[in-house]
Amino acid sequence: MSTPPIIDLQTIANARADILDRIKTTAMRAGVTPPTLVAVSKVQPDDRIAAALAAGQTIFGENRVQEAQTRWGETFATHRSDLELHLIGPLQTNKAKDAVALFDVIQTLDREKLVRALLKAADAVGRMPRLFVQVNIGEEEQKAGILPDELGPFLDRIRSEYGLEPEGLMCLPPVGEPSAPHFWRLERMAKTYGLSGLSMGMSADFETAIPFRATHVRVGSALFGAREAR
Ligand SMILES: *Cc1c(COP(=O)(O)O)cnc(C)c1O
Repeated sequence: MSTPPIIDLQTIANARADILDRIKTTAMRAGVTPPTLVAVSKVQPDDRIAAALAAGQTIFGENRVQEAQTRWGETFATHRSDLELHLIGPLQTNKAKDAVALFDVIQTLDREKLVRALLKAADAVGRMPRLFVQVNIGEEEQKAGILPDELGPFLDRIRSEYGLEPEGLMCLPPVGEPSAPHFWRLERMAKTYGLSGLSMGMSADFETAIPFRATHVRVGSALFGAREAR
């Protein structure tokens, strides 16, 4: 693995200020509430995370439980009480307890087996993170998430059988397609099912997601710079 390029700390502070400004401006023009910026810190080197923390960023997204445990439970553990951590990657049931212990929000709820594992973990840990249901909005074969047609029955079941109330929906539109139609569809689904949260939009399309009432945008490379391959 090559050494990640050195990124000046001020570069990250400037990028963050620019993204926050674009969020605010886009929301104002669209007449909607500006979404929360979730800084996607997966794979980024520690000095970049430190720069984002120094710039005042407190909400971070990670896609692997173990990597997040090392970063937020060890390297930056002293910051933990001031932070809000979101899991935005797939969760295996055998990691449910670790995830429940570490994360404030789990955005990738996508099956009933995971609901049961999370409830069991919440019982053991004594807390339940806020939950978003991931929707496979492009109905892609290899992608995680509940299919749009199955969302209604899934929500009915987790509400009635398990007494769980998710905060919202999350999606990752297919690569290479315009995002807007997918964001539009996710917004309609949230409205249909009475959910207020919408996690959608990444570095390339967060401004597109805002007029569709995204409540959370997940931005990695535009904030931290390009990620090294794993
Ligand atoms: C990596 C990732 C992001 C951030 O992607 P960027 O294009 O770097 O902003 C957002 N959401 C999910 C689910 C991711 O895995």
